[in-house]
Amino acid sequence: MKVLSFNVLYMALLLATAVVFADGPYLTTEQEYTTASNLTIHQQLVLLDQIRLEDQPRFKAELAKIRQLPLTQLADIEYLTLLNAYEQALQGQYDKVLAILTPLLKTSTDNQIITRSRIMAVNVLLLSNNHALAFTYFEQLLNTIPTITEPELLAQVILLVMFTYNQLERFDLTLIYERYITYSSVSDKLACRIRVIALEAKYLQPEVTVTDAAVNEVINHCIAAKETIPANLARFEQMRDLLNKNEVSSILKIYRQHIGEIELTNYPIMISRVKTLAASAHFKNGDYQQALQLALNALKLAQSSPNNVALVEAYDVLYQIAKAEQNYQQALAYLERKQQIENEFNASKTSQQIAYHTVKSEIELKNQRINLLDRDNELLFLQQSIYQEEAKNSRLWLMLVALLGFITLILAYRGLTGRKRFKLMAEYDQLTGISNRYHFNNQAKQALKYCQAKQIPVAMILFDLDHFKRINDQFGHATGDWALEQVVQACKQFMRSNDIFGRIGGEEFVIMMPGCELDKATLLAEICRDAIVSIDCNSIEHQFRLSASFGVSGSATSGYEVKQLLANADNAMYQAKAKGRNQVVEYQQTERE
Ligand code: GH3
Ligand code: MG
Ligand code: MG
Repeated sequence: MKVLSFNVLYMALLLATAVVFADGPYLTTEQEYTTASNLTIHQQLVLLDQIRLEDQPRFKAELAKIRQLPLTQLADIEYLTLLNAYEQALQGQYDKVLAILTPLLKTSTDNQIITRSRIMAVNVLLLSNNHALAFTYFEQLLNTIPTITEPELLAQVILLVMFTYNQLERFDLTLIYERYITYSSVSDKLACRIRVIALEAKYLQPEVTVTDAAVNEVINHCIAAKETIPANLARFEQMRDLLNKNEVSSILKIYRQHIGEIELTNYPIMISRVKTLAASAHFKNGDYQQALQLALNALKLAQSSPNNVALVEAYDVLYQIAKAEQNYQQALAYLERKQQIENEFNASKTSQQIAYHTVKSEIELKNQRINLLDRDNELLFLQQSIYQEEAKNSRLWLMLVALLGFITLILAYRGLTGRKRFKLMAEYDQLTGISNRYHFNNQAKQALKYCQAKQIPVAMILFDLDHFKRINDQFGHATGDWALEQVVQACKQFMRSNDIFGRIGGEEFVIMMPGCELDKATLLAEICRDAIVSIDCNSIEHQFRLSASFGVSGSATSGYEVKQLLANADNAMYQAKAKGRNQVVEYQQTERE
């Protein structure tokens, strides 16, 4: 509901983004083109690729000319085919685009052609609501990310990935993928678009706060790159955030300052949504007259593009105004319209979500790997090494990552099918089989609600392996993974059926114990600590010892909020680390800062 509205626009933007092959002659002006008749066919194609954005009629005319030429090189033929597909895309002939791309994708062995074709295919398929096929190509694109070496092309793929994750409201994934981008090696226009998508993700993620300075920086970047639509999309996000914070006068100030510029974009959905925001601000101010005028204006604009969230938002404000003015019949009419559109929306969104879930297992796995790499700052290393001299080294890394993802995928596929598989993969940690952070949180919340209602005590144990990095560094990740599995096995045997055991970080675990007082939990923590120290590490070729530091908190002092229980257990765990590790510390109320 929050983001779908810009769907079509972004798709259009994505399609329009240029990727120019690195080996082309970079002649951009018309003059240079017309005088460049002695160019090779490949060079002419590169130039066409550039002008398709700047001058569509000319692109079509020149393309028609090249089609008449006898092409002999396979690379030229494929490039021309790709440009033919772009031509159809620009005309909204999505079926034709796919008819061109499908055979091209089957036969081409050129990585750039394949990647660009997939990007276009995903765009077009999403635009024509063929989500299942779209996500199949999407998954293929995700798989190839590690092998793309051309920064601009990589950025294209990442833009599409981030955009899609925003649509799916997986803002966390959007922000993870943003880290693949080295902004300094991407063109300004593309960088601006990516930053705006990232900004949207940040705004819509409650844990992340966006400062005014940060938004303004993105806006200025986009304006400098002459990307006015993305610049104003950023502004829209800023205004929406202000509305949520009830900063009514700030919204109206931005509105007055920029509405002229926003109207110049000629993009009705955005103009409509901005006006609706301003209408809401006036409504909150009690200025119903202004609010009504703007909302009706917004409604009119939104109607030019049916099935849009802009309509829902406009109807919502109109409903509120009518209700406040005690015009109940009118209010009801608006409300009914609003709900009708909302229902249509939710249906389309559900089909999108289902399609996404059919490829999600792979994505989840990859995400975990990325998280892991990220935690070690290895992603940074990876990024830099792609673009710099350590290409060989990084490819090895990338192959490893891809291979790990692939192997885990195969293992996961075995024995599990359909929904069950997706549910399991979304909820359980692949390595250790216990709940992942997300699932742990959900389970814990449910249990806490129940316990609070019945006034049953709850305890929380959090532990983190000691000097685990050293084990990875000295013996490799595989050994580290082995150790993580052993730790889980060792502790699991002492748990009761009601206890909830989760892996909430790389080597950080948590046990929630409903019906358990602090002292009993501390005892269990001691038992687990001992079990970890006793793990026999001689059975594998390396010799080392494992240990962990434990923090314990309980509802008596920390209450029944997962967050607080975790924070206090974490606090105690850090004390255990500080005291020399391999020990258990109880959180005491007096320690509260
Ligand atoms: P201490 O907690 O005692 O302060 O030291 P540490 O070395 O354990 O601390 P830190 O949290 O800095 O390091 C955690 C390391 O855990 C980083 C990373 O190498 C490793 N790690 C995280 N997740 C995984 C995983 O899934 N597999 C493996 N093998 N290692 C992981
Ligand atoms: Mg840690
Ligand atoms: Mg640790």
